[in-house]
Amino acid sequence: MGKVQSHALLNFPVQDPTDKKEGEAFLVKLQKVLDQHIDAEAIDLTGEIPAAGIEALKKLGAFGIKIPKEYGGLGMSQVNYCRALEVTAAHCVSTAVLLSAHQSIGVPVPLKMFGTPEQKKKYLPRLAAGEISAFALTEPDVGSDPAKMTTTATLTPDGKHYILNGKKLWCTNGVIADILVVMAQTAAKVEKGREKKQISAFILETKGAEGFKVLHRCKFMGLNGIQNGLLEFKNVKIPRENLLGQEGKGLKLALSTLNQGRLSLPASAVGWVRKCLTWSREWGNERVQWGAPIGQHEAGSSKLASIAADLYAVDAMTTLASLWVDHKKRDIRLEAAMCKLFGSVKSHEAAELALQLRGGRGYETSASLKARGEKGIPVERVVRDSRINQIIEGTTEVMGLFISREALDRHLQIAGDVINPKAPIGKKLSGLVRSIGFYSLWYPRQWISFPVWFRFWGMGKLGCHFRYLHCTSKRLARTTFHLMALNGPGLERKQIQLMRLVWIATELFAMGAAIGRATAGKKFGENGSEAVMLADSFCQEARIRIRQHFQGIYCNSDSVKRKLGLQVLKGQQKWLESSF
Ligand SMILES: Cc1cc2nc3c(=O)[nH]c(=O)nc-3n(C[C@H](O)[C@H](O)[C@H](O)COP(=O)(O)OP(=O)(O)OC[C@H]3O[C@@H](n4cnc5c(N)ncnc54)[C@H](O)[C@@H]3O)c2cc1C
Repeated sequence: MGKVQSHALLNFPVQDPTDKKEGEAFLVKLQKVLDQHIDAEAIDLTGEIPAAGIEALKKLGAFGIKIPKEYGGLGMSQVNYCRALEVTAAHCVSTAVLLSAHQSIGVPVPLKMFGTPEQKKKYLPRLAAGEISAFALTEPDVGSDPAKMTTTATLTPDGKHYILNGKKLWCTNGVIADILVVMAQTAAKVEKGREKKQISAFILETKGAEGFKVLHRCKFMGLNGIQNGLLEFKNVKIPRENLLGQEGKGLKLALSTLNQGRLSLPASAVGWVRKCLTWSREWGNERVQWGAPIGQHEAGSSKLASIAADLYAVDAMTTLASLWVDHKKRDIRLEAAMCKLFGSVKSHEAAELALQLRGGRGYETSASLKARGEKGIPVERVVRDSRINQIIEGTTEVMGLFISREALDRHLQIAGDVINPKAPIGKKLSGLVRSIGFYSLWYPRQWISFPVWFRFWGMGKLGCHFRYLHCTSKRLARTTFHLMALNGPGLERKQIQLMRLVWIATELFAMGAAIGRATAGKKFGENGSEAVMLADSFCQEARIRIRQHFQGIYCNSDSVKRKLGLQVLKGQQKWLESSF
């Protein structure tokens, strides 16, 4: 809506010192276990995380990092949890996914949010001790649109059990899980004479569950160590008391779980990008071509700068959102979605840049490098492992739609009836009065930026970026309004335009977080001028990208691309597919 919450960004919160100390002590122990038991290269080659490694992680409490102490967990904060994932992912991404699928989206999260005291007492201690859990939502025919799921759970006539039937695909940890949270359709409800589909969530213990079968362990381009499967449920009996939350609230539970878990992916990403930065710096100095270290050629130094600046921004956004979770000050759904969107794209870009900088060695496997006597830097594995974050827990496109809906929501509340051609005339008129009342004050304000010119001068270079953030937020707000007025409800289908708005908003949030963190740099023990350099470089790049997105809104090839895309879909351009 054009408003920047300067206070929230510039007063970058600090982690409680006791919490930090506790977290750091845990990270030291975690690193020890990883060094001792987790060989990422062997896991990539064999596709198995060794049982001894999983046992050691269980003993350490790594499966119950966020589970409250009263239930046998470590009861750590969101920030400490994110740092644990970061450290694990820097060492082995598959192992980070094992921990994350269990406690970012697995049973502990919905159980904490929606479980009864009895369910919590029964399951949380077991989950904290390391009984592995998984989240089963996706089905072969249902991915981004889970509301259309076909797995069913039918209540038995005596009302004591549900009978589960269906299949779930790509369930991470599903192959080895002891306990699943499964979403399924329960009996439809009739509301106002119309049948309404009901989705409910269940806790399912897999051990001894008759009719439960792992049909296939899926293999992917990366993350070779994850135990991800196609699961089948054939008349599986679930006791009624294992219904999680209320009947019919299963989709809400699933989406809330994904919202809660969303910060895990960018946090893990920070881990592997730190590694990419180290490898790139070292190779940038070591490798000499054309008489100079490759990092000193401009093409090389610009890669190092991009990796470093983007890392700084993704880390700042994720830390900020995590601290907001811990301080319980705000609803961070939107920020978490932006961290996920931005972190997934930027971390994969960073891995690609590191690969390019290492040239042929970037493309060579670490085992092959070692076999011929070189350091086994696994950049190619990180490129393979990092790609998935743009697909899981909401694809980049679906995150974009989610963020844009949140952005349009306020406008739709005010002016939705006016632009809705199906709204009755009475509603249109009252909507019009409401809209005139609101927009006559709000809209002119989106053109007035000059008061901000007199602010933030004490912040040096970053002050200039912060003023830009204020002015551009207003520009974004009025552009969103213009597009709504121009397209009406049809704007929802203009996905490329919406994505431009989403990227501008996300870049602005990233800028705000980076500036906030650099301004508060000393609190984090960072060297002030270096942190300012990182934030400044990131902001300059972000501003260039933002300018391109704005230009794209009014000058683009969207309609011709749409036409061509539909032609391709129909097969009109099929001749192009053949070499003969
Ligand atoms: C390694 C891995 C681990 C996974 N772990 C789990 C897990 O633990 N639990 C679980 O339940 N699921 C899991 N999944 C499933 C994952 O969440 C889905 O793959 C994801 O939600 C996307 O669904 P889909 O693959 O069916 O793609 P689809 O939904 O078929 O989408 C295909 C493409 O179309 C785009 N698209 C879809 N709808 C729209 C739209 N309305 N507008 C514009 N574009 C659209 C998507 O962005 C995507 O690019 C996992 C998947 C993988 C590969």
